[in-house]
Amino acid sequence: MNIPLQTQSFELKQALTGKVSLITGSTSGIGLGIARALASAGSDIVLNGFGKPEQVADLQQEIAADYRVRVTYSAADMSKPDAIQKMIEHTLCSSGRLDILVNNAGIQHVAALQNFPPEMGRHSRHQSLVGLSYGTACAPCHARQQVGANHQHRFGPWLGGLSYKSAYVAAKHGIVGLTKVIALETAEQGITCNAICPGYVYTPLVEAQIDGQAKAHGIAREQVIRDVLLAQQPNKRFATVEELGALTAFLASDAAASITGTALPVDGGWTAH
Ligand code: NAD
Repeated sequence: MNIPLQTQSFELKQALTGKVSLITGSTSGIGLGIARALASAGSDIVLNGFGKPEQVADLQQEIAADYRVRVTYSAADMSKPDAIQKMIEHTLCSSGRLDILVNNAGIQHVAALQNFPPEMGRHSRHQSLVGLSYGTACAPCHARQQVGANHQHRFGPWLGGLSYKSAYVAAKHGIVGLTKVIALETAEQGITCNAICPGYVYTPLVEAQIDGQAKAHGIAREQVIRDVLLAQQPNKRFATVEELGALTAFLASDAAASITGTALPVDGGWTAH
């Protein structure tokens, strides 16, 4: 049987006009980069995360003015199921829809296994996994009614372990499985779910580690960056928040309608080792 070749063209520039995107942990770093990229593709934005009220208000105004989209904010704590449910309900009430959910908020605690505070391990896994699954569970039942609703989930280095980050690595590995389950359960509703897996990305979270590592190892910042942080990253450069934002906007667009249940490394070749 001959299958006719179809030609399609995708214009990503305004690909998300009319959509509403909620990005957890978007008052800083990767989440903020993703919020800007989705806004630049035309989506209205719900910011979430911690921050001083005046700084958050400045961010809202700046993104709204730069991209001419509506920008609202929820201070919900992603480790608290009740707060997550309220955030989703409030978004649906005020915006009337929720098309794109980016589960980005995450924390990490560094300690050897035998010294790992149980409470910190529970909190770290809870925030990454419970926050993610609960937010997703609350959202799709409404988002399903939207055409082309998308859900992307993102997390950190995932193949193999990272010493002293037991709770973080356990949580991030769990997200890969959860991503696949969500993708399977929502595939027929036009919802996609993918995990974006960055190597090191230069953000305030990473900047905070550079001086600490320099002190701990008694070496210069440049050496920490090249020989400690980027030791496993063959291209020896940080991924950027703009690169992650662009990939997220693509995954949220109709051009990526057949990409679901995947874990996409953005790691300069880390996982090619
Ligand atoms: P960041 O510290 O710059 O930003 C974290 C954001 O999450 C902030 O907006 C913060 O307010 C928010 N946040 C933290 N706890 C929260 C909570 N309980 N509820 C709501 N918001 C909360 O960090 P980042 O580097 O942008 O990292 C963001 C995500 O990317 C994390 O999940 C992290 O594990 C992951 N990641 C980062 C890197 C990297 O190299 N930076 C690499 C891989 C994965």
